[in-house]
Amino acid sequence: MTAPFTASFHPARIIFGPGTLAQVADEIAGQGCARALVLSTPFQKADAEALAASLGAQAAGVFAEAAMHTPVDVTNHALEAYQAAGADCVVALGGGSTIGLGKALAYQTDCPQIVVATTYAGSEVTPILGQTENGLKTTIRDAKVLPEVVIYDAQLTLGLPVPMSVTSGLNAIAHSIEALYAQDRNPVTSMQAVEGTRALRDALPVIVADPLNEAARSEALYGSWLCGAVLGTVGMSLHHKLCHTLGGSFDTPHSETHAVLIPHTAAYNAEAAQDALSPAAELFGGEIGGGLWDFAKSLGAPLALKDLGLSESDLDRAAEIATQNPYWNPRPIEQDAIRALLQDAWAGNRPT
Ligand code: NAD
Repeated sequence: MTAPFTASFHPARIIFGPGTLAQVADEIAGQGCARALVLSTPFQKADAEALAASLGAQAAGVFAEAAMHTPVDVTNHALEAYQAAGADCVVALGGGSTIGLGKALAYQTDCPQIVVATTYAGSEVTPILGQTENGLKTTIRDAKVLPEVVIYDAQLTLGLPVPMSVTSGLNAIAHSIEALYAQDRNPVTSMQAVEGTRALRDALPVIVADPLNEAARSEALYGSWLCGAVLGTVGMSLHHKLCHTLGGSFDTPHSETHAVLIPHTAAYNAEAAQDALSPAAELFGGEIGGGLWDFAKSLGAPLALKDLGLSESDLDRAAEIATQNPYWNPRPIEQDAIRALLQDAWAGNRPT
């Protein structure tokens, strides 16, 4: 029997396919806009400049200083550039860092955002903005922050380095694992979560062996769209709380932290959420925690928090912070059990 549910979905215009970068100009016009500020990180500046050149008069300029966790001072500089250039929309070309900057500008100006997503993190389809100021991270959920148009062009992901592809793909899978047992899940988000996980499970091994394989890159991007969509639609639990704790208080890198923790958090919830997780467990050999760990290992993903700059002496405090104001979770959050989970993840043990 289908359980009762209430579902709300976010509107989004999704343009998917190799070569769709060429549609940015039409999409700017489609939003009723004339001058886009093109955003990127310093690393993707050349791509942003090439896009701006192809847009001609529709480009108001390039701002290539996007940084991890959307620092407020970077947003303030970008806002000055946006106003000085007379821009009326933004085009964010990149992963979660660049998309975060576009969202922060949209939060302040309500400008339309066209996102060209080049990682698997999923931020492009969520109404969530995480910002940092003076070392403090705050999260905003607001309809203004949701990008209007998302372009998924797999050709732009061919150069995403393999280690980043792997950790970013596991980051996406983590959204879906938590969506499967979310309290506010519905049959559509569960289908999206399983299909997104399936697509990434199939694509990532091919990408590791053959990074320029366009079919696998497309499949991974398709999976990341579905995983991002559920992140934006239903609530997240223990896994995301632990990642926010480690990233926010101990500065561990974003996608790597997700990659290391997801087998352990899935194992923690495996029994309490057995029915909800069973379609995902089937994708990984029947055992969700150990199966995800074996999959991550086969891809060459990092397996241990000790390799991400976390000291063993940080684990007590991490367990304490992560268990304060916990998000809803299918299994009760017990500090001793979380401390044991962190110990295993720190050492790189296979979860049982
Ligand atoms: P990122 O955007 O920081 O990208 C990492 C690096 O890879 C950057 O230097 C980037 O320029 C480069 N890069 C990206 N795509 C590339 C490509 N195709 N080829 C070559 N290089 C490429 O990494 P991310 O993991 O996508 O994003 C992490 C950030 O996003 C974090 O700050 C996280 O909090 C945020 N995030 C937010 C949400 C949300 O819903 N608000 C969701 C997921 C992630």
